[in-house]
Amino acid sequence: MSERKVRVRFAPSPTGALHIGGVRTALYNYLFARQHGGELIFRIEDTDSNRFVPGAEEYILESFKWLGIHFDEGVSFGGEHGPYRQSERREIYKKYVQVLLDSGKAYIAFDTPEELDAKRAEIANFQYDASTRGMMRNSLTLPKEKVDALIAEGKQYVVRFKIEPNEDVHVNDLIRGEVVINSSILDDKVLYKSADELPTYHLANIVDDHLMEVSHVIRGEEWLPSAPLHVLLYRAFGWEDTMPQFAHLPLLLKPEGNGKLSKRDGDRLGFPVFPLEWHDPKTGEISSGYRESGYLPEAVINFLALLGWNPGNDQEVMSMDELINLFDLHRCSKSGAKFDYKKGIWFNHQYIQQKPNEEIAKLFVPVLKSHGVEAPFDKVVTVVGMMKDRVSFIRELWDVAGFFFVAPTEYDEKTVKKRWKEDSAKCMAELAEVLAGIDDFSIEGQEKVVMDWIAEKGYHTGNIMNAFRLTLVGEGKGPHMFDISWVLGKEETLARMKRAIEVLK
Ligand code: GLU
Repeated sequence: MSERKVRVRFAPSPTGALHIGGVRTALYNYLFARQHGGELIFRIEDTDSNRFVPGAEEYILESFKWLGIHFDEGVSFGGEHGPYRQSERREIYKKYVQVLLDSGKAYIAFDTPEELDAKRAEIANFQYDASTRGMMRNSLTLPKEKVDALIAEGKQYVVRFKIEPNEDVHVNDLIRGEVVINSSILDDKVLYKSADELPTYHLANIVDDHLMEVSHVIRGEEWLPSAPLHVLLYRAFGWEDTMPQFAHLPLLLKPEGNGKLSKRDGDRLGFPVFPLEWHDPKTGEISSGYRESGYLPEAVINFLALLGWNPGNDQEVMSMDELINLFDLHRCSKSGAKFDYKKGIWFNHQYIQQKPNEEIAKLFVPVLKSHGVEAPFDKVVTVVGMMKDRVSFIRELWDVAGFFFVAPTEYDEKTVKKRWKEDSAKCMAELAEVLAGIDDFSIEGQEKVVMDWIAEKGYHTGNIMNAFRLTLVGEGKGPHMFDISWVLGKEETLARMKRAIEVLK
């Protein structure tokens, strides 16, 4: 077989926020497309108008923009295979439904919901298939004139796929290997509904993958049960030769216990399951997102890439380019991937360390603003460099480094009890004088003079430093003392000391 151009697609239904599992599906499609110099299509599968949620499409697009996943074609990107929104492709689907009707691979069915319910009540485990279609109201049982008359009258109908029973259907999956099921377990799936003149997911999905020349269908495991039906549809159209290769990705599992990851797990354990914050337009409910929770997009990508795939060694931190190089569908696992959200936090920490301080500082500036602080950018960069190894989120920089920007107004009681001695006020007053006399207020400059002074006076270094820290920070935390006083500068350092001496005496 000649090598086909790699064309893959991400095809969400705009029914709400994009689940993190969907983000991983899109990511794997993206990595696969880039690695093979192929194309990634963004298609909107909105044939189920009942489930349409306004804003969902925009939300999905914004999510990928934030994450750095780019599409080559599709809704909002253009391309030669459009339109890419299924609700705008009605005429195309009608034509293909007719092809199946004309070749006898599909038929028209008039059974009303009530009639179907009655049959279900009458026959245990009723399924509309080869064994039952002969007793239903459809174009196989009614005379042609009757069928035409019903349609002319405007009676609602559906078109069903006529599945031949007792046939083994083989699905070759790049991850799961060969999956075989017998066609008798399938029902005659509805492919089209006259009520809204729209196809169902199955027909639209197959027709579009064919017309858009999709080479590989990489999607979540939940679609594996549909794959045999899809194989049969390709065959019914005579498109076997260009049928895409399937790859069904493993499920994302709960962080603890069994079963598939749900939004409730996120709510319970405190992690987002959506890329961006989502405001549900129907319920008004707000769900947290990775972006708003302070994750860096690179960290989210890296974290998701390893949920169901690994590079074959213990390398964990990988840039998008490295992932594109290393990704391999054959290394995707069949079994579900535990959603270890703590690993996501670990990745965020790693990326904060890896990124230039200037970049992290830019993200810290709005946090400072929210606390009413405007500081020179240089100072923010310096503080970030000193403190970022202590945090996993940018906002946590405020907790560990806020004192660099706001002088303490209170002094932690416990620390005072432990660290502020009888002679501390006197020693600090002396130290302030020593510091005031230093011209070179660099870290080394201060250290040399202060250490000499301590030695000369015979003071206890620990006692001096602990009291000094209390005056500048207000508690017992923080980096190296002279790092702090250097960042604060002489004037601010002396002012803080003066105030602490007054308050603590
Ligand atoms: N519209 C389907 C979804 O929402 C797409 C499934 C597929 O990729 O075939 O996930």
